[in-house]
Amino acid sequence: MRCGFCLPVCPTFKETGIEAESPRGRISLMKAAVDGIMEPGISFEDQMNHCLGCRACEPACPADVKYGQLIEQARDAVETHTKQHRWWIRGVRKMVFKELFPSQQKMRLLGSGMHFYKKSGLQSVVRKTGVVGLFSKQLSDMEKILPDASGKGITQLLGTFIPAKGEKIATVGMFRGCLMDVMFTQTNIKTVKLLSEAGFDVVIPETQNCCGALHAHSGESDQAKMLAKNNIRAFQEAGVDFIVSNAGGCGAILVEYDHLLHDEPEWKEAADWFAKRVKDISTILVEKGRPLQFADSESATTSTRVTYQDSCHLRNVMKGSNPSRQLLKEVGNVTFVEMKDAGSCCGSAGIYNVTQPEMANQILEGKMVNVNATEASYLVTSNPGCLLQMKLGIDKHGQKGKMEAVHIADFLYDRVVKH
Ligand code: SF4
Ligand code: SF4
Repeated sequence: MRCGFCLPVCPTFKETGIEAESPRGRISLMKAAVDGIMEPGISFEDQMNHCLGCRACEPACPADVKYGQLIEQARDAVETHTKQHRWWIRGVRKMVFKELFPSQQKMRLLGSGMHFYKKSGLQSVVRKTGVVGLFSKQLSDMEKILPDASGKGITQLLGTFIPAKGEKIATVGMFRGCLMDVMFTQTNIKTVKLLSEAGFDVVIPETQNCCGALHAHSGESDQAKMLAKNNIRAFQEAGVDFIVSNAGGCGAILVEYDHLLHDEPEWKEAADWFAKRVKDISTILVEKGRPLQFADSESATTSTRVTYQDSCHLRNVMKGSNPSRQLLKEVGNVTFVEMKDAGSCCGSAGIYNVTQPEMANQILEGKMVNVNATEASYLVTSNPGCLLQMKLGIDKHGQKGKMEAVHIADFLYDRVVKH
């Protein structure tokens, strides 16, 4: 089928109107490469890299084309084809994909470095000199919204077991994430405390590692599989009933570990066990948790306007866009305002806003028109990448002080009645 129903929902097609920038166009290019009509070389690679991987094309497709699986295979093919030509890129990739991300110890070192950069005064010096801007405008913009990183992750601060408040409903395993755990440590802590308030014993297996999403999306499927197997072992040993993620980007690959390991039959049972237990924080709170009680702020005379930006992966892969909205509507003194096209990608898409800054900024500008129209005080998201991208948009549009981008776990925990 080449119906084109996927075209109007594709952010890169919407921006360019070019067939090759659409899901249908990219699938045609993949087919041409498979049929030997074109080489999976640089121009093919560029076209594949322009894709955000947001997967908005999947729910729109009447033929149930698994575009996410196709793009991962295409990127794997590009990596294999171009490996011998790019020694310096290989060096950087090896350091990032094989040494930094798989090691939580190294991620904590990175967190310590970022913490020092912000707190030592070095950040002010760097900003005054404008040295980052000499390298890249995008890096300079991103530097402005660096979160408060930490050299300590959640298990260093809370331990590996947090009991349920009141009667226990189930035992959940917390997927802490690699970057999430050092760049948004407080969000992880509040996620665990929300789970405890809702009646869950929370286990945080120390031996878990990065989910492998960046690897799988960048043509490093062998490394992604290795990380997946390690996570499956860690959570099976912990004997949990559910596995909770608070980052849509991570959750979407965790829920597809069965597909990632589909060509390794000896892993089938374990991968199925894992994949069917994965839930986003909002989904498990709504579906399985004891209802949270939210405080009505007695001092508040007016209601707070709140809007929500979907995480593409939470919406299109985990099918979890409703529970977050439901929870936000339950919070006292909140008026929930639905944003136009809230389900459309914000341009963050993992590291897309670093690797494809032009398109990412174009998409962000379109998104900000809809964000600003909500006149909300809080812009809530469920993924760290979206959160940073929204902070960047708010900063660029001079909305700082009027509007704040927050993760849903932070927003809910700050307003829940604690027992
Ligand atoms: S994943 Fe997103 S950007 Fe890529 S083709 Fe599908 S809709 Fe377009
Ligand atoms: S991917 Fe699906 S929606 Fe898009 S052209 Fe093909 S069949 Fe139609």
